[in-house]
Amino acid sequence: MFSKILIANRGEIALRVIRACREMGVRTVAIYSEADRSALHVRKADEAYCVGPAPSAQSYLRADRILEVARQSRADAIHPGYGFLSENPAFAEACEKAGIVFIGPSSETMKLCGSKTASRRLAKQVGVPTVPGIDQDLTDEEILRRAPEIGFPILIKAAAGGGGKGMRVVRESAELASAIRASRSEGQSSFGDPAVFIEKYLIRPRHIEMQILADATGHTLYLGERECSLQRRHQKVVEEAPSPVMTAELRQRMGEAAVALARGCRYRNAGTAEFLVDADRNFYFLEINARLQVEHPVTELTTGIDLVKSQIRIAAGEPLALRQEEVEWRGHAIECRIYAEDPANNFAPFPGKLILYRPPSGPGIRNDSGVYEGFEVPIYYDPMLSKLIAWGRDRHEAIGRMRQALQDYLVAGIKTSIPFLVEVMADPAFIKGDVDTTFIEAFVKRKKMDEPRHREVGLVAAAIHAYLMEKERRPPAPAAAAGAVSPWALAARHNALRRR
Ligand code: ADP
Repeated sequence: MFSKILIANRGEIALRVIRACREMGVRTVAIYSEADRSALHVRKADEAYCVGPAPSAQSYLRADRILEVARQSRADAIHPGYGFLSENPAFAEACEKAGIVFIGPSSETMKLCGSKTASRRLAKQVGVPTVPGIDQDLTDEEILRRAPEIGFPILIKAAAGGGGKGMRVVRESAELASAIRASRSEGQSSFGDPAVFIEKYLIRPRHIEMQILADATGHTLYLGERECSLQRRHQKVVEEAPSPVMTAELRQRMGEAAVALARGCRYRNAGTAEFLVDADRNFYFLEINARLQVEHPVTELTTGIDLVKSQIRIAAGEPLALRQEEVEWRGHAIECRIYAEDPANNFAPFPGKLILYRPPSGPGIRNDSGVYEGFEVPIYYDPMLSKLIAWGRDRHEAIGRMRQALQDYLVAGIKTSIPFLVEVMADPAFIKGDVDTTFIEAFVKRKKMDEPRHREVGLVAAAIHAYLMEKERRPPAPAAAAGAVSPWALAARHNALRRR
């Protein structure tokens, strides 16, 4: 086992990895940017080093500086978390060269998974269905010529895309040229690669993904699916396991497809195969995410398997002790991503100081958080405050617990997505499990987020905020003002009473 792991990330995921390391008796090294000096992951790690100014490109993405810290601190492995350098083959390769274990798949596997067209070709090779489309990077001329072959609506996708970036829906040929331009330029600016390809745009599919684990010997397991259809701008907002439409037979078929894909690219460590599923339960491969997913806790709660500890053990060369038949699923888990954003203002990011931060607790409630009361949410990074996860014996109980937990979640000083999530959890279509990737867009249109009840809640929050700001401004009361009772005197008095 490793003696020290560097965590090349921030926020809740850095804390999640630190927690796993602590449990395993592994020491931890944090890195941070100048904007994150007072962040929780810096305090919780055994050592912490600043790697540069606030913008990620100058800090959390500086592979050279991070590797230098790893060398100096004598870390024997690096956990990349998600985002930042987690899917960067050059970084994985640099770790391999420096003799530091990268906790994830090899740089070769990552290169393949990083290209949507290459992984579509892999799917074809191993007999896994893909969304109808063309598995090559295409020139503008080829797209114009071949789009009618697939039939509108089509989706133009950046081959290197991720996080919903570089995608454009095209409903008729007149829209093609401008969509190609937009997709290419987003691919170039976000991923340094203007390559695009085309897929059939499926109408109202579900997004269902399969978690896999593979050890160094190639022993590969599937740990079940996550339903991630609740998305905004192609980004997940609410995830759950199991999917409300899953059957044992479909799970086995999708699981075996994910394992075939993993074997086909010599996948090692934890990964996720993403699929779209249509109304007739046909599934189509989308891509492999070669890292830990944000939504991994719902799989942890339903399988009882700690994915982060599994990742660390696999990277250390330990074999997976489980057989596929031994993987069992119990109950239902739902995750809500809590963002610092304003649902009433088109979900615009709302960074600022957390004047009040009281996350909920209770049976079946888990809150993976990266913040604390008094913390100033920086403007530079993803504005996710925490992931609230509820487990129940069945979906109904999980939703009930989630709804209650969201209502108990107190935050003041900034706006959050909590009121929006409360509404989603009470929505009859959601409760029925009748969801698809267009659910949130339609939901937002149906509901007006500035309903009177929200205004009332907003006013109360604003009043608490103002009160706390005022309290903060007031000078602290002198410790032992005349006439005040000292806490020592009080304690003595209580003791005396108890003895009577
Ligand atoms: P990214 O890597 O940017 O996350 P994905 O290919 O994983 O992109 O797709 C993200 C989301 O975009 C999917 O979950 C789905 O909502 C939507 N999407 C992607 N491809 C299609 C498609 N062919 N038809 C309909 N929706 C799609």
